Amino acid sequence: MDIQKENSMLWQKQMTAEHMEELANVGKTGKKVAYTFVPGNLTELIRAFDMLPLYPEINALQSAMKKQSGDFIRDAEDMGFPEDVCSYVKCDVGMMLEGNIGPGGTKLPDPDILLLSYTGCFVFMKWFENLKHLYPNAEIAMLHIPYQEAGELEPGAVQYVIEQLKTEVIPKFEKVSGKKLDMDKLAGMLDLSAKAEDLLMDVFDSAEHRPSPIDAYFGGVYYIGPIFTAFRGSEACVKYYEDLMSEVQYRIDNKMGPITPDGELTDQKYRLVVEGPPNWTHFRNFWSIFSENKAVFVGSTYTRVAGDYDYGFRHSSADPLKRLAEYCLGCYTNRNLPQRIELLQRFIEKYEADGLLINSIKSCNSFSAGQLVMMRDLEDRLGIPVGFIETDLVDPRYYSYSNIKNRLDSFFQMLEQRQALGMGKGVIV
Ligand code: SF4
Repeated sequence: MDIQKENSMLWQKQMTAEHMEELANVGKTGKKVAYTFVPGNLTELIRAFDMLPLYPEINALQSAMKKQSGDFIRDAEDMGFPEDVCSYVKCDVGMMLEGNIGPGGTKLPDPDILLLSYTGCFVFMKWFENLKHLYPNAEIAMLHIPYQEAGELEPGAVQYVIEQLKTEVIPKFEKVSGKKLDMDKLAGMLDLSAKAEDLLMDVFDSAEHRPSPIDAYFGGVYYIGPIFTAFRGSEACVKYYEDLMSEVQYRIDNKMGPITPDGELTDQKYRLVVEGPPNWTHFRNFWSIFSENKAVFVGSTYTRVAGDYDYGFRHSSADPLKRLAEYCLGCYTNRNLPQRIELLQRFIEKYEADGLLINSIKSCNSFSAGQLVMMRDLEDRLGIPVGFIETDLVDPRYYSYSNIKNRLDSFFQMLEQRQALGMGKGVIV
């Protein structure tokens, strides 16, 4: 089968451009805009009201990839935001202070509603509290998602979220959009979501192959783009994952690895699992440290940040509000430490990883809290070598190439020795 390998990438680019154009034209079309967060998001519900979702975290990470975040963060700090506040927040506020020109170069519309879906990170509350001061005309809808303290979906918690959808979120969206919720439309979108979710899991599970046809971290962050942002629940999103899976299947059939900054990585010396988000300010440089060392990521918890499909959850037209509630409750940032450890263990075993890397993010407590415990636990349980590095999401001041490189050189040496000896374990901190 001869396929055009870059189809999915081009399609994602086109989808994003069209979405940005729609956002730029709301003055003419009258479409309403909802700002909301990525983890456990309610994209289908927003789209069911013909509204446009916008995610401040995505603006922040894209600004970082375009080397704009440093200035935005300084602007926010000049306004009084302390150094230790989440750098996504400061980047977003700084961008707004500079005219809200998005990373695509067009002015982003003000929000008509701020949908605060609080999933596991207290910063979300303070972030939108600040945005409410900056956009005083925006409606605000609060959706409190209880943390999975007991390590499971509790029926009372699901019901609690459903009640909030019915009494807080949906009425506010009906008010802002001027439309009643069309439950049939929502249900149809949720079935499309499930199709895309099945395909995404096929893509991630392809990492069981050797060589792995994907990089589940650096490539994975592109793969989750459509499903975790504005496009879940659309035909366009399903098409993206169909194209992507065809490309992955082509690489499996031809025993090819993923494309990295150093070319195709077919000769894969180390298979790694990673906990924590990537650094966005030096994304390619960071990726290169691994591809130069012939290391490929076969599993990543960050690619479950908005929703977790590994244990069988799928959106569905059967009982739509219950599915939306379960999705919000199940996202990674809402899971407790034993659940996170279990997911990492699952990846390490399923994808037969040689090592685990923790990328601790300076300004993200939601990910970083407990990572040392997770690291020790997995090292004890599985005897797997663990590397530990520190970077930041979008603050370029916290990316030190030499420090990271030194630590990773030691990590790779340890992996090499272990491979030479057949086994061994160790922790680098
Ligand atoms: S602290 Fe982490 S999870 Fe919370 S908003 Fe910032 S980046 Fe997101």
